[in-house]
Amino acid sequence: MDAMMRDTTRSSALDEGAVATFRARLRGALIRPDDPGYDQARKVWNGMIDRRPALIARCAGVADVIAAVGFAREQGLPIAIRGGSHNVTGHAVCDGGVVVDLSGMKGIRVDPERRTVRAEGGCTWGDLDHATHAFGLAAPGGIISTTGIAGLTLGGGIGHLTRKYGLSCDNLISADVVLADGRFVTASAETEPDLFWALRGGGGNFGVVTSFEFKLHSVSTVMGGPFLWPLAQAREVLRLYRNFMNSAPDDFNGFFAFLKVPPGPPFPVELHNTTMCGVVAAYTGPHAKADEVVAPLRRFGPPALDHFGPLPFPVLQSIFDPLVPEGLQNYWKADFVNELSDEAIEAHLKYGPKIPTVNSAVHIYPVSGAANRVPKNDTAYFYRDAKYVHVLAAMYPDPADTAKNVAWVRDYWSALHPYASGGAYVNFLMEEGDERIRETFGGNYERLARIKGRYDPTNLFRLNQNIRPSS
Ligand SMILES: Cc1cc2nc3c(=O)[nH]c(=O)nc-3n(C[C@H](O)[C@H](O)[C@H](O)COP(=O)(O)OP(=O)(O)OC[C@H]3O[C@@H](n4cnc5c(N)ncnc54)[C@H](O)[C@@H]3O)c2cc1C
Repeated sequence: MDAMMRDTTRSSALDEGAVATFRARLRGALIRPDDPGYDQARKVWNGMIDRRPALIARCAGVADVIAAVGFAREQGLPIAIRGGSHNVTGHAVCDGGVVVDLSGMKGIRVDPERRTVRAEGGCTWGDLDHATHAFGLAAPGGIISTTGIAGLTLGGGIGHLTRKYGLSCDNLISADVVLADGRFVTASAETEPDLFWALRGGGGNFGVVTSFEFKLHSVSTVMGGPFLWPLAQAREVLRLYRNFMNSAPDDFNGFFAFLKVPPGPPFPVELHNTTMCGVVAAYTGPHAKADEVVAPLRRFGPPALDHFGPLPFPVLQSIFDPLVPEGLQNYWKADFVNELSDEAIEAHLKYGPKIPTVNSAVHIYPVSGAANRVPKNDTAYFYRDAKYVHVLAAMYPDPADTAKNVAWVRDYWSALHPYASGGAYVNFLMEEGDERIRETFGGNYERLARIKGRYDPTNLFRLNQNIRPSS
């Protein structure tokens, strides 16, 4: 009821003449609280988020984005930018403001000769992988195909190709951006280089990115899939994982997980709903060498489940989609870690096995290899020394399970945090305060703040992990 009253107040304060002019400038739909479809359009991935924007502009192209940014600026309304809507803080939607919704902007053009792709800001990794796979090519993205290319890339971008080809943002060649003052620019190493630097890890602070141009790599069918072991072996598996990753070739990317085995295929019935630990592997080297590379994982144990084998890359990229459907309650906490110390392993052993509900999970993602070789000041993404990002992700359908899930994440995080390297991966942050944002951008924060001051001096784009403009 409170939310309704707040929204009505805001809506009645809108300048209806300006709204009519705005609507006339849009090729896409303008959705308001009384319109059918409003409740669907304001939903984001995290079912915990319940915000009521005054207007949702379903942009059909760059011209619509320019119109939406101009309208919000002139009317003094907050702006939320919506790409794939996965951000767990729910920054893709706001109360009382304008949502610049790019979800309908899905144009993609692959250039197989130059090995590049240009994709609009509403694409998901599933859209992009589908388009590039037809040419035997791929760009490094995230591990769930429904995630937006926009938010993920602007925050860094961690996935199965990180160790071989770097973060998603390391593969960005250029970005088309609508700035706070309505100007349209292309940021690249040659044009607007400061903006280009800031976009690679600085999040949605600098403008609305209408399209992204990525470098592509020869990745078609990879060797990949999960290995799972019983919890009784978790300590040895974590140590094995650490030792294995310390000497693994960049061709091997594997993340560690505690998870509850979902009750369905391809998992054998006897493992359903059992909490287990595992390594989810992706090997992009020669297929003939794959078995030799993963032999230490197979020798140890052996695994209770071994699903490692050839997979078309888009299949690997979407294999876990059913575990994280839209609308679950999401509460996450994360940290970067330089090493997986024995002490950190003990903290994992205390809490990892206690996953409260089936979709919740703990993942330890490697951010080493190629991602570590980029100097920390080359892009806004700062933690280039960190070897891992761990994320403690409570995901559950029933809001009644919130207390136990949130307590599990908080206690787990507090136990692990002493072994962290400082800061957090911006894409896994929730509302954690200015100090945590500063830590996350570390030694790059001051430069980011100056670039913010140049491109968005009034902080129009502030519904994000916000960098305060400085001069
Ligand atoms: C199920 C799930 C799986 C995930 N897996 C991974 C993973 O494997 N690897 C990983 O690195 N991260 C992963 N993430 C985290 C993900 O990177 C962030 O949630 C990211 O913000 C999602 O981007 P989006 O476009 O989908 O989200 P949105 O919520 O639409 O956008 C997030 C924020 O990014 C900014 N933004 C979005 N679009 C634009 C734009 N076009 N221009 C300017 N700013 C924009 C805005 O500030 C916006 O609020 C995952 C998240 C979920 C929920």
